[in-house]
Amino acid sequence: MERQQWDPANLGLCSRSLLKVEVPGYTGNIRMEVPFFVLVGKERQPRALLIAGVHGDEYEGVAVLQDLAREIDPHDLRGTLTIVPVANPQAFYAHTRRHPVDLGDLNRSFPGNPNGTISERLADLLFRELVLGNDYVLSMHCWGQEATVIPYVEHQIDESPAGRKAAAAALALGLEFAHPYQWPEGLMALSALRHGIAAIEPEVGGLGTLTEAGHRAYRTMTYRFLAHLQMVAPPETGLDAPYQKTKIVEHTDCLASHAGLLRRYVSAGDPVSQGQLIGTICDLAGENLEEIRAPRVGTVAIARVFSSIQPGERIAQLFWEK
Ligand SMILES: [Zn+2]
Repeated sequence: MERQQWDPANLGLCSRSLLKVEVPGYTGNIRMEVPFFVLVGKERQPRALLIAGVHGDEYEGVAVLQDLAREIDPHDLRGTLTIVPVANPQAFYAHTRRHPVDLGDLNRSFPGNPNGTISERLADLLFRELVLGNDYVLSMHCWGQEATVIPYVEHQIDESPAGRKAAAAALALGLEFAHPYQWPEGLMALSALRHGIAAIEPEVGGLGTLTEAGHRAYRTMTYRFLAHLQMVAPPETGLDAPYQKTKIVEHTDCLASHAGLLRRYVSAGDPVSQGQLIGTICDLAGENLEEIRAPRVGTVAIARVFSSIQPGERIAQLFWEK
């Protein structure tokens, strides 16, 4: 393993540093460096990572972390806080979920490979330099350009000590919905969990944009996450997203069986009853091909935006309480 590019032990107590790490040895002549902040408080432990911009078309977490890196006073902090606003700069500039060089999905590439594709190398760099060593990780995502989502948090179904800590942290965010998951291989949060790090993954916003509501939701939940770890006290003002009793949910997808024009009749956040019309698909001449109805009662958690659709693509995802 390569020597670490930075060491938090070299940073003084009550300090704020802007640092960067760089993917080494990539022969594609692409310089890839990731800026990040390290805030060391009155004590060095615990350690938490706040990270956003893993996907290049998700921005709500980016804006909140840029603010929090300046707003949190190290003198009021207990522990060491690492803040990465944009984990995947090239995808950010390309405004795409995937890395523009290898089309890799960074959040399916962890723990990475130092000799692999550029996404695998970036995952390896982030994992070694910025993920390992933490007690907790908040991996902040949004839905991409194709859908809107209601704020919720995912955590892995895992009975290990770190898995139980992650589940407790997920409930502490005060969101309406928490979704225990069997995550696919390659997620940063799953790889972190396997190293004993309590990692959770919220989803806020979408459409490749920033909104006031999304900013409020992410800022509030990030402070609640840090307060749960007793790293900061919640600020007296500004936490204006209401604390909600969290429902533990599972999901059901409503998928298209045909290609054509989608007309959608529900929005993210809508309650739906079993059999309620979710959308219709017609062919290019306007002949009706399909009606999509809710297979069960639930809440629309994710709603597709693009009205051109292909078979197998998701029109909506319903959350329902277990
Ligand atoms: Zn994402």
